[in-house]
Amino acid sequence: MPKYVYKCNECEEHFEVYHGMSENQEGCVYCRALSPHRVPQMPFLKRSVEPKGGKVGEETKAAIEANRALLEEAREEAKRNFYDDT
Ligand SMILES: [Zn+2]
Repeated sequence: MPKYVYKCNECEEHFEVYHGMSENQEGCVYCRALSPHRVPQMPFLKRSVEPKGGKVGEETKAAIEANRALLEEAREEAKRNFYDDT
């Protein structure tokens, strides 16, 4: 089902709902006010809200690499200190 973004006129909250193309969200999920209006979705917004599997994977990989680099650095540091002491 497609995802729609609504904004409530009463509490001004945004919320996302999944429903069929011919259906409408009848009330605000926060304050139950009737007839929230649908917010047109901008493509770039949608892309940032829905992370692609590949993108998350790349970010995770980058984080692991960064951690490894830090670890290497710490190890080198420890080695240097060890040799200094002897
Ligand atoms: Zn509301």
